Amino acid sequence: SAIDLDDVIKEYLSHGEVVQAVKGVSLSIAEGEFFSLLGPSGCGKTTTMRMIAGFEAPTRGTVKLHGQDVTNVPPNKRDVNMVFQSYALFPHMNVWDNVAFGLKQKKTPDAEIKRRVGEILEIVDLTGREKRRPREMSGGQQQRVALARALVNNPRALLLDEPLGALDLKLRQAMQIELKRIQREVGITFVYVTHDQSEALTMSDRIAVMNDGLVEQLARPREIYEQPATAFVAGFIGTSNLLTGALTAGVLKVAGGRVLVPGGQDGDVTVTVRPEKITIDVDEPTGSVSAVRGTVSEVVYLGTYNSYAVQLADGAEVTVFQQNAHDASTTAERGDAVWLSWKPQHSYA
Ligand code: ADP
Ligand code: MG
Repeated sequence: SAIDLDDVIKEYLSHGEVVQAVKGVSLSIAEGEFFSLLGPSGCGKTTTMRMIAGFEAPTRGTVKLHGQDVTNVPPNKRDVNMVFQSYALFPHMNVWDNVAFGLKQKKTPDAEIKRRVGEILEIVDLTGREKRRPREMSGGQQQRVALARALVNNPRALLLDEPLGALDLKLRQAMQIELKRIQREVGITFVYVTHDQSEALTMSDRIAVMNDGLVEQLARPREIYEQPATAFVAGFIGTSNLLTGALTAGVLKVAGGRVLVPGGQDGDVTVTVRPEKITIDVDEPTGSVSAVRGTVSEVVYLGTYNSYAVQLADGAEVTVFQQNAHDASTTAERGDAVWLSWKPQHSYA
């Protein structure tokens, strides 16, 4: 694999107190993979990245790059490059000189600099803008220059720490597609840090969802979305309903009904279910499904689907998304008594 972290811990001393920013992270990133670290602000994403890059030494644990232990190897001796949200371009240099800077420092022959800078500017779609200064460019273009400057060194892995964070939504979405294209074209490993779940779901081959210094789940986007491993992941990714109670023999009794949790361990549990997996109906469902009674407290029309808030007898609220097209059962209105049902495989404890 390209990158291996083995039980990595990072402690900082802050005002005389030990702060554990990373509390024991182990993960393996494959060569050529688009891998994301996703989690809320302060969960340890940047610290993890900085240990891969070599800007921070772990307090404990090991970092391997391409099978080699680099735990104590300085950043400039590692075959990785980092791209920051702030771009960190030289303001007085034009695009060409910004990108060529590292190669000139390494005394690369002029002909090779010319070839490589030209090639990389082509990949990031900046050909023809070589003479521009950073301030004469848009945020998206500046980020492409920063990307080109990292790629021109031919790193085996590129580390990107919230690289699109300074861009507005539309530009960010365009750059997400662009970044994915560039990664496919250059074929190297990308490690991508973001707190934006839709960004991670769109771009990644796999995602490590982090919370409070730990990885809560490491899986492909679809699995993270469909089968959140913990209540934290379920709450952080997309919209989820949480139902809590005591589980007995795979059945959770809730106000006005039952939730089937096949294979779930007996005891207190929090069960998650996605709004789009729930069917809303006036009649009591039959068969082996989770079924809960409630009252519609709100209906929001959202074009292709409706969003319902349904209140259970104990006051808990369940969100349901229901497609509009050709669906005769989606006529419930505010105040209606309804049944909610979903298949056993859509409950996660
Ligand atoms: P993220 O990138 O996910 O927002 P960080 O890795 O930057 O999170 O930070 C994780 C935790 O470590 C935070 O609580 C942060 O305050 C703390 N931290 C990060 N860097 C330092 C430092 N140099 N000194 C003290 N605490 C730090
Ligand atoms: Mg950060």
